[in-house]
Amino acid sequence: MSKRVVVVGAGIVGLWTAYELRRRGMDVVVIDKAELGSGSSFGNAGWVIPARALPLPAPGLHWEGLKMMVQPDSPLYIKPTALPRLTGWFTQFLKYCNAEAYRHGCEATASLTSMAHAEYDRLAEDGLDFEMHHQGLLSVYLDENAWETGFKDHQTMAEFGLGEPVRLSAQEAREMEPELGPRIVGGVFIKEARHTDPGSVLRALASRLEADGVRLMFSTEVTGFERQGHRLTGVKTKTETVAGDDVVIATGAWAGQLAKALGYSLPMQAGKGYSLQFSAPNPKLRASVFLGDAKIACTPLSRGTRYAGTIEFSGINLNMERARIEALHKKIPEYLPNYNGSLDAVEWVGMRPVTPDGLPVIGPVPGFENAFIAAGHSTAGLPLAPGTAKMIADYVTGRPPAGPNPFDPARWA
Ligand SMILES: Cc1cc2nc3c(=O)[nH]c(=O)nc-3n(C[C@H](O)[C@H](O)[C@H](O)COP(=O)(O)OP(=O)(O)OC[C@H]3O[C@@H](n4cnc5c(N)ncnc54)[C@H](O)[C@@H]3O)c2cc1C
Repeated sequence: MSKRVVVVGAGIVGLWTAYELRRRGMDVVVIDKAELGSGSSFGNAGWVIPARALPLPAPGLHWEGLKMMVQPDSPLYIKPTALPRLTGWFTQFLKYCNAEAYRHGCEATASLTSMAHAEYDRLAEDGLDFEMHHQGLLSVYLDENAWETGFKDHQTMAEFGLGEPVRLSAQEAREMEPELGPRIVGGVFIKEARHTDPGSVLRALASRLEADGVRLMFSTEVTGFERQGHRLTGVKTKTETVAGDDVVIATGAWAGQLAKALGYSLPMQAGKGYSLQFSAPNPKLRASVFLGDAKIACTPLSRGTRYAGTIEFSGINLNMERARIEALHKKIPEYLPNYNGSLDAVEWVGMRPVTPDGLPVIGPVPGFENAFIAAGHSTAGLPLAPGTAKMIADYVTGRPPAGPNPFDPARWA
């Protein structure tokens, strides 16, 4: 009899993990408290860009700088009323805002994302039908210093083999993307960048899992666990206990709440972001464009343009702040003058799951032999998911990583 693994959370991380476990012959159950696509994995920018899996704590950030981030239109925003509750978390976060920690983080994520494009290709070869575009990423800037920092970030990831950045003058950037306006001072292009409609990947994974006999339980909240000593025997929902030999917690920004039920205090916060989905090109872009200073992603999808951006720390909730949406409408035309913000758009809010060091937690829950966690994928769940799924499947099948695991959940125990 094959092992039965219960995966909690049906975002990109949970579904890809379930897919990998099923491929390895496990009997898998996936449980999600809501409908498919209710988490951060649905309305995000859809970038599958290994070179942009950068840790959020960056060199040079400090308390004084963070206190400036209370302007409602700041790309990184801390809600003043939430600040007292977030002080402890930010104190930890600031410890990682240095060059050494940043480089360590880049190296760690690079090790996990280097396989990403090949894994998406493998998914397509396996017959899964989802959207994927290969036109690269053009980052553009209004400010010389931001341009320099953006180029350096790409150079750091290039050292780990993740895309050679090409520096472009403003004119070269506009030749590549004629919709760019006159205020651009320069750009950086990497061709090793892809984008997708993330909802299409979720749907493809879910339908394959279902076809392969995986039980998908939606609208079913996991409220706790059944345990015997250091082992879990199942997960509790409001109506039943679902038995399992192993349990994987893949609940994104909510992971801290479930981890607490296992006595594991995971410092997870939400880096909330917003997106706008237009049903037609607005304007028509040739490739993904990153509005560097404003930190806004522009993604040309087959069903229209998507804009995504802002990182807001206001606690674990999906409350939508109007000012953050307005900030997107205000900033986009500074780069793309033909943008029409008065057209109808689907507005969406999601929570990036962020740990203080900006790295995911992937591995055994401290103190448990058969409980695993895969969460904290911050700004880059799409390129990090395939590597995460492999790591979790390795643990479940008794083949943990040979060397040190930079994502070990025990670092927060
Ligand atoms: C605006 C924005 C833009 C982004 N752009 C990109 C991008 O371009 N590329 C990229 O790679 N990443 C991007 N991200 C980040 C990306 O969305 C996340 O890293 C990723 O979605 C995390 O996936 P996840 O599966 O861990 O979490 P989620 O997708 O949030 O899934 C977690 C699931 O767990 C379920 N759940 C929670 N608690 C319970 C419970 N108790 N019981 C049962 N189920 C539960 C939830 O319902 C949810 O479905 C962006 C994020 C935002 C907000």
